[in-house]
Amino acid sequence: MATDTQQHSRNGGMHTGHHFLIVAYGFQSHLNPCRVLAHRLARLHGVHGSGPVLATVSLPVSAHRRMFPSSGDVGNGEDTATDGVVSYAPYSDGLDDGSMARDGEARARSRQATFESLSSLLATFAARGRPVTCVVCSMVLPAALDVAREHAIPLAVYWIQPATVLAAYYHYFHGHGDLVTSHAADPAYEVSLPGLHRPLRIRDFPSFLVDTTGSELVKFFNESARELFEHLGDPGCTKVLVNTFDELEPAALAAMKEHLDVFAVGPVIGFSSTEARIHLFNHAGADEKRYMEWLGAQAARSVVYVSFGSIWTYSKKQMEEIANGLRRCGRPYLLVVRNDGRQEDVSRSLDDVVLEGQGMVVEWCDQPKVLSHPSVGCFVTHCGWNSALEVMALGVPVVAAPSLLDQPTSAFLIEEEWAAGVRGERNSEGVLTGEELARCVELLMDYGQRAIEIRERVEALKWMAQEAAASGGPAERSLRSFVMAANSIIG
Ligand code: UDP
Repeated sequence: MATDTQQHSRNGGMHTGHHFLIVAYGFQSHLNPCRVLAHRLARLHGVHGSGPVLATVSLPVSAHRRMFPSSGDVGNGEDTATDGVVSYAPYSDGLDDGSMARDGEARARSRQATFESLSSLLATFAARGRPVTCVVCSMVLPAALDVAREHAIPLAVYWIQPATVLAAYYHYFHGHGDLVTSHAADPAYEVSLPGLHRPLRIRDFPSFLVDTTGSELVKFFNESARELFEHLGDPGCTKVLVNTFDELEPAALAAMKEHLDVFAVGPVIGFSSTEARIHLFNHAGADEKRYMEWLGAQAARSVVYVSFGSIWTYSKKQMEEIANGLRRCGRPYLLVVRNDGRQEDVSRSLDDVVLEGQGMVVEWCDQPKVLSHPSVGCFVTHCGWNSALEVMALGVPVVAAPSLLDQPTSAFLIEEEWAAGVRGERNSEGVLTGEELARCVELLMDYGQRAIEIRERVEALKWMAQEAAASGGPAERSLRSFVMAANSIIG
């Protein structure tokens, strides 16, 4: 890997075009879309009308170290790296061990530490002759807002969740908050948001907006979101890049364009050879060989792939129910259970299913590779937005079993807007029972009318996704429009 200085010395002296600093949280689900976006921005360098473009990804020190194990200790701009196309410069969140601040005071300290660290990065880049011209922050990242304000640099938001969720947040903080909050305990209550062509039920809202638990974390997150949404639309902070495409969410995109400069740049997934993925989880080559060979030995469209993303954790009860459900189906399955994804000791149910030899359990896999495999017949997912986009782009029917955050909205989109899957209802304890899992899997895997219609829909959506992402296609044009719109800022 070349050093950052070697990479940029090719540009010789002062860089006169754009330099986007993409600031992200250190989660798997933020890292990949940010890195791929950075690549796509950097590749616009010199493309007609775009001008010179540099892109740097800034992650917390802890995530940066996982990506670049030989990197130094601090986020002061000295330990930047490059993959030959984009640079990586870590920031310190004051914790630097991957943990989250636990209370209000700790969060305030972490925000200040992040602000200082990012400010120091800006100074380093300016001193090196390539000043940052636009800060792009992934989702709600309050310190990025502080930095952009303090240094008078434009801020663009990279919304790595559905445009429908963007609309829900926007309208929640612009006139609909009281209505939503006052009905938060009624999952079936319908709220009509401006521009969306059908109402969202309370149960379809992003979970934090309809939280009834009084959680401190949720309150903190909602306050941070409020700050962002009150600032969005101010001069220097009008642009929002959304990881979606027109055919998926036409109404939500059109609705948000009435209020903000919205650019649909998705699907930003990253599974081509030029956009290789980063895996923050252990993913040794031997393992990949093992599950790919196993998939290769299964019949076409026979395998149930089960994964709940990079953050969600299994309780013992949930693990038992998944095991029961897979047993009931009697179909081959590939189940992902991360080592850090166990709330309790779940080894008993895992050992049992493994011994039965009907499927395979892995700690992590290359998900797009698995979803691309012809033997995969359906995907049981928690509906994280990356997973939702990946499965749409790769054409696999979905069992949607959401729990938190944007996942309920994504499940609504998958089942009701796109007719690309069925929703697996969790019980009152938030558990997806084995019976429900088996019901949904069988519905998708049999040859009934609904299964056939869903397969046709996912096939159609797959082509739409591929067209959106094609070279010179809508996503690239939209990203170029963003860069050209940003040109007016630097003259
Ligand atoms: N993922 C993967 N292998 C796995 C499990 C997940 O590559 O075994 C990737 C998946 O492809 C997706 C990301 O991890 O890109 C999870 O992001 P998502 O937004 O779906 O959910 P989150 O992790 O934020 O809950």
